[in-house]
Amino acid sequence: RRAAEVEAAHADCVTADGARIEIFANLGSLDDATRAVAAGAEGCGLLRTEFLFLDRAEAPSEEEQREAYAAIAAALGGRPLIVRTLDIGGDKPVPYLPFPPEDNPALGARGIRLSLARPDLLRAQFRAILAGVPEEQCRIMLPMIVDRGEFAQARAMLDEAAAAVRCDRPPLGVMIETPAAALLAHDIAAEADFLSVGTNDLTQYALAADRGNPALAGRIDALHPAVLRLITLAGEGAAAHGRWLGVCGALASDPRAAAILIGLGVTELSASPAAVPALKAAVRALRTEDCRALARRALALGTAEAVRAMLEE
Ligand code: PEP
Ligand code: MG
Repeated sequence: RRAAEVEAAHADCVTADGARIEIFANLGSLDDATRAVAAGAEGCGLLRTEFLFLDRAEAPSEEEQREAYAAIAAALGGRPLIVRTLDIGGDKPVPYLPFPPEDNPALGARGIRLSLARPDLLRAQFRAILAGVPEEQCRIMLPMIVDRGEFAQARAMLDEAAAAVRCDRPPLGVMIETPAAALLAHDIAAEADFLSVGTNDLTQYALAADRGNPALAGRIDALHPAVLRLITLAGEGAAAHGRWLGVCGALASDPRAAAILIGLGVTELSASPAAVPALKAAVRALRTEDCRALARRALALGTAEAVRAMLEE
C-alpha cells in the first residue's frame, strides 16, 4: 500500500478523462528543489532567483550564479527547470543597485524594467543560466512584462548570450502578472514560447490592492472574477498561438482553484513544494468538461466571495 502511494505521488498527473496537467513547484533555494522532488513535483515552474541577489554587498558573480543554477538543475534530476530572471525593485533595496527611492515601488523600476535598465546584470544572468542548466531542462521566464516590446529587447539579449556560449536559445516565456500583459496576451503569445500567470501580482494590480498590506489581506483574492477574466484572456492568447499556459502564483497551490484554472486552459500548475501531493490528488479527480463548465459559471459571478461559495457547494 505504501509503495503504491509513493508511486502515485511521483507519477505524472492526468485528469480523470486523461488530460495531462503538469504539476511543478516554485523554488527559492537548493533545499526547495530537494523538497519538491520528494513531494512528487514534475519540475520547477518558477525559480525565484532573488535569493542569490539579496542581503549582500555586491551582485553574485556569473560563476557563482552558474554553480547555483547547476546545483538546482542536478537536484531536479533532469526535470524541467524554469528560471525566472531577476525580479527585485525599490521595495527590496540592494546596496549595489543604487536606484533613487520611489514613492510607489510596486509601480516602479522592478522586474524586467530594472533588468533592461541594467543590461550588464541581465546578460550575466542569461550566460550563467545557459552555462549552468542542461539544455533539455532549461527554460527562462521574464517577470513584469507589459508588452512585446520589452519581450523583444530581452530576447535579443538572450540570443546574444546564447551565441556567446554557443548554444541554441532555450524556450523563453513571459509571466502574465500585469493587467497589460493579460490584455495583450494574444500579441505577446505570438512571440513568447509560453505564458505563466503570476496571480500574486496580477491580483494586486487588477484589484489595486497592495499584496503586502495586512489590512487588505481579506479582500485580495485571486479568484476574483476580474482576475479570472484576465486569466481567460491569457488562455485565449496562448491557445491562439499553440503556446502552453501555466500558473505560478499562489492560486496554483490552492487545490480548490485547480478546476477553474484548468477550465480556463491552464495545463501547468506550479505550487509550493508542500502543496504538490494534495494538488495532484485534486487534479486527478477532475474532468475537463466539468472544469470548463465551472469556469464559465465563475466568470458570470460578480465577486470573489460568490466564486468561493460556488466552489464550496
Ligand atoms: C506572482 O506575482 O504571482 C509571482 C509568482 O511572482 P512573485 O510572487 O515572485 O512576485
Ligand atoms: Mg510577481
